[in-house]
Amino acid sequence: MKQWRQDLPPTSVIITFHNEARSTLLRTVVSVLNRSPEHLIKEIILVDDFSDHPEDGEELSRIHKVRVIRNEKREGLMRSRVRGADAATANVLTFLDSHCECNADWLEPLLERVAEDPTRVVCPVIDVISMDTFQYIGASADLRGGFDWSLVFKWEYLSQAERQARQKDPTQAIRTPMIAGGLFVINKAYFEKLGKYDTQMDVWGGENLGIVIQFHVQKISFRVWQCGGSLEIIPCSRVGHVFRKRHPYSFPGGSGNVFARNTRRAAEVWMDDYKQFYYNAVPLARNIPYGNIQDRMELKRRLHCKPFSWYLKNVYPELVIPTSEGGPGGSLKQGTACLDSMGHLLDGNVGLYPCHNTGGNQEWGLTKDGLIKHHDLCLTLPVYAKGTTLLMQICDGSENQKWRHLEGGLIRHTRIPVCVDSRYHAQRGITAEKCDSNAETQRWHLYNHNH
Ligand code: UDP
Ligand code: MN
Repeated sequence: MKQWRQDLPPTSVIITFHNEARSTLLRTVVSVLNRSPEHLIKEIILVDDFSDHPEDGEELSRIHKVRVIRNEKREGLMRSRVRGADAATANVLTFLDSHCECNADWLEPLLERVAEDPTRVVCPVIDVISMDTFQYIGASADLRGGFDWSLVFKWEYLSQAERQARQKDPTQAIRTPMIAGGLFVINKAYFEKLGKYDTQMDVWGGENLGIVIQFHVQKISFRVWQCGGSLEIIPCSRVGHVFRKRHPYSFPGGSGNVFARNTRRAAEVWMDDYKQFYYNAVPLARNIPYGNIQDRMELKRRLHCKPFSWYLKNVYPELVIPTSEGGPGGSLKQGTACLDSMGHLLDGNVGLYPCHNTGGNQEWGLTKDGLIKHHDLCLTLPVYAKGTTLLMQICDGSENQKWRHLEGGLIRHTRIPVCVDSRYHAQRGITAEKCDSNAETQRWHLYNHNH
């Protein structure tokens, strides 16, 4: 058993809810009380975001340590959380969704990291509570939070180097470019210094962006990193969360619009000129009014937050920047034929098919660090030998995914002299063959649809 430091700070747990099922809400509260050392829970603040039935909250307020605040109108997740934070009396804030189950020893590892360094914003590994059976299912700890240029949060596999480091010490904190949004621990003074949440964001969405660089993609994420903090997933801490397909509440203004507005605010405040890549990925966002961002820009100046280019270089170098030399949105051509995933998925091979110039299965990019990418999958040489069929595998930056596009069109593997070759595509898919600058079947032209 690990000995925790004696001076771990107690925390205020903040849970906002709107029309949450009584059973899941109770499960959340009870798990916090049962699975945390008594002295580390200062209080549980439930913010009832104007649910239809005020009794749900009122009844829970009879439980030891539980305080309930009810909004007079629907405020949305972010304003509700800020309200809860303002009411909190502990120096450390713990935000949870209203449908969680905290697992044994979930709290101490989180509090320890924040006690050591108040600029750390830390999350547990988020396990899955089945939406259908409410069973608790462990999730992989080899994941971190990321996003693509549409700024939608996604889980990503750790790189090979990070996975190896984790094998040596599975307790190590995992630096993450983005947090999933709902579940994290933050020093209260630091939360306030960072400007809390963007309270002009409605309902939901966009809150991870800011804090990371700021807080939900989403905002907290950008904000934290860009303004001198860091975001970590702490693998010793686990909390289950009900992931669901639909939300049990409506989005005034439509969910798409609310999400786009919040995300656009994050892009405008935190992404500098890189916001153009977001607008290229989500063209409709250009027409969504995003309100006034002056106070957010002022905050960014006041805190001397770093530019988005710094974030990309130091925190999220894996995010491929679309360039005229390729990147997502391009294709690899051989005459009138194109490299094509043939609809295959992970561990599948690839083929050659007449170009249709509409992306899809023919969307390939060649990144600066030598990956041949189709969405999250990279063209991989599974064995270092000529004649090997290339496979699509999760991009993990390992050496068997590194290629060089040579003058003349050859795509050569960086380690051994084999090149991407289509001569056997009909039988075995695209293979790696001995490089031969005279072979038409090895000549590839990278074509970018945006230019
Ligand atoms: N929530 C809220 N007000 C709203 C919408 C959501 O207080 O207007 C709460 C919701 O009850 C939950 C948390 O915010 O506790 C996060 O929302 P949700 O779980 O629906 O988001 P998801 O986990 O699906 O991203
Ligand atoms: Mn949730």
